[in-house]
Amino acid sequence: MRVLLIEDETLLREQLTRQLRAHGYAVDAAATGGEGQYLGSEHPFDAAIVDLGLPDISGIDVIRHWRQHGRRLPVLILTAQGRWQDKVAGLEAGADDYLVKPFQLEELLARLNALQRRAAGWAQAVIECGPVRLDTHRQQLWVAGQPVELTAYEYRLLSYLILHAGKVISKTELTDHMYEQDFDRDSNVLEVLVGRLRRKLDPDDCLQPIETLRGRGYRFVLDCVSS
Ligand code: CA
Repeated sequence: MRVLLIEDETLLREQLTRQLRAHGYAVDAAATGGEGQYLGSEHPFDAAIVDLGLPDISGIDVIRHWRQHGRRLPVLILTAQGRWQDKVAGLEAGADDYLVKPFQLEELLARLNALQRRAAGWAQAVIECGPVRLDTHRQQLWVAGQPVELTAYEYRLLSYLILHAGKVISKTELTDHMYEQDFDRDSNVLEVLVGRLRRKLDPDDCLQPIETLRGRGYRFVLDCVSS
């Protein structure tokens, strides 16, 4: 999952970027409203975290701009304590949720996860697809009741496919949502990751959960429900 962070306080921006990456997110960070607005307009993100008090364009205006131009990515705003008007203005501009500074990382992660999940149409954090069970909150996978360890990239890839189960996802879309802007993308890496996931999910090759559609991409084919 790829997240855009717009925060002008250097210390907080760098700390959040590190922490989000440590929790498996690809993070593009912007220090100004202008840069953030541009990134959010030009690149596909799964969610944006937007500080409202920015030096140039306000976070409210950034969100308003995105919404006026049809950008529907989930947006979580960061507001200063005691500024309840900011929350209202942010939500009215099109934000989906808010956090008041200072906040706990766990709360940010939980809200971010819920926003992405709901944007993809899932009501609950756990998604079950036959014997495959993905807990999007704990970032844990089970197959036939057994926990399966995934690397951060494997998790990003699998969770994206499962959140969009049944849909054909192109390699471009997958890399756009897995890697940061400056990352050296290589579609061979994606094929290797898919191969590894297949072996982890389906060591006996009887389930075949990930279908390859030549020239079009991949599709997670098991029926999924969230619980
Ligand atoms: Ca600020």
